[in-house]
Amino acid sequence: MKVLVINAGSSSLKYQLYDMTDETVLAKGLVERIGMDSSILTHKPTGKEEVTEVSEILEHTTAIRKVLEKLTDKEHGVLSSVDEIQAVGHRVVHGGETFKGSALVTPEVKAEIRRLFDLAPLHNPPAIMGINAAEVNMPGVPNVVAFDTAFHQTMEEKVYLYPIPKVLYKKHRIRRYGAHGTSHQYVSRVAAEFLNRPIEELKIITCHIGNGASLTAVKGGVSVDTSMGLTPLEGLMMGTRSGDLDPTVVTFVMNKEELSISEVNSMLNKHSGLLAISGSSSDMRDITDGWEAGKPNETLAFEMYEYRLRKYIGAYAAAMNGVDVIVFTAGVGENSAIVREKTCENLSYLGVELDKELNKVRSGEPRRISTPNSKVEVLVIPTNEELMIARDTLQIVQESK
Ligand code: ADP
Repeated sequence: MKVLVINAGSSSLKYQLYDMTDETVLAKGLVERIGMDSSILTHKPTGKEEVTEVSEILEHTTAIRKVLEKLTDKEHGVLSSVDEIQAVGHRVVHGGETFKGSALVTPEVKAEIRRLFDLAPLHNPPAIMGINAAEVNMPGVPNVVAFDTAFHQTMEEKVYLYPIPKVLYKKHRIRRYGAHGTSHQYVSRVAAEFLNRPIEELKIITCHIGNGASLTAVKGGVSVDTSMGLTPLEGLMMGTRSGDLDPTVVTFVMNKEELSISEVNSMLNKHSGLLAISGSSSDMRDITDGWEAGKPNETLAFEMYEYRLRKYIGAYAAAMNGVDVIVFTAGVGENSAIVREKTCENLSYLGVELDKELNKVRSGEPRRISTPNSKVEVLVIPTNEELMIARDTLQIVQESK
């Protein structure tokens, strides 16, 4: 079965086409600047040259039509006909409390995703555009939605509630939802497979650290706590997001600087984190380069980032009364040996012992970076949210037949 996975943003659309008989990627690509004057389609068929095409793409329906043209193109294509695509999987950021797993798209499911626009005003509307665009271009082909929040729906009430007046939860569903669920679920499963141990027996801390960053405590295969909250602003210090702070900072700054709600939101989401402290970059490569060169602002940014990350690991070891496995994944987690080294250096009280040489090895495969004596297995596992969505899509479509 061939499954197309779509990740639709407001002005972009990423895609990957899988042959699920052996889970290989047949082609992947990206449409950028949708709705702007010159949109860019980058298409990479496996084993063939990458192609880039600039044209006017005003909305997502045209974007998907262009993608399907590329997938069936004589020169750059990988399919003889669009009919070969038997299902489409969509990434959706917010599934609220309704979606505890991936779901087959029905009019009711679409209505529920719309109802959740309030909780993810920037992210859920483009997901609906992507679903509609797939329905128009591929009539009769089933669509499945996979939610970033779904994996964390196993958190207990004591974990997901904020200690604020309960009426706010009742009226507006204000609670912790988490994010990056597809990634945390994927890497925790791969970790158990890699170690050849039943996931039900394991206490795993998964560190998804990229531009956005979150940690999850996975006990017995389910999420028991995660660092992101009502929105992806809570938790770790990130590239441009502040992570945890005293909520009074918000009202205080709004008052003193006469900022509006959208200005203060923008400050905390786009102008904080590594970028704010270093004053130069949100990219961990620049921060660690600056730290190595002894630049004070980059050094402070790096130290704050590592300190906050390490505190969360300690908190999750406490949440689970122990930890068997720590997994690093996403842009920083997979690539930055120094972030992993410095973080693990101060986890010796947990019995973590890093093999510094193994930690420096680069490979796109799951690997162990702890010593044989380490009480905690430390692994680097490349995340693959698209594959996880393709697997869910295949399973749900097969079950629905
Ligand atoms: P997103 O959250 O946007 O999906 P990614 O998981 O792709 O992001 O992570 C992107 C980030 O990964 C970059 O901003 C950069 O900080 C970091 N990164 C990528 N490569 C390296 C590297 N070699 N060393 C350190 N950090 C890296």
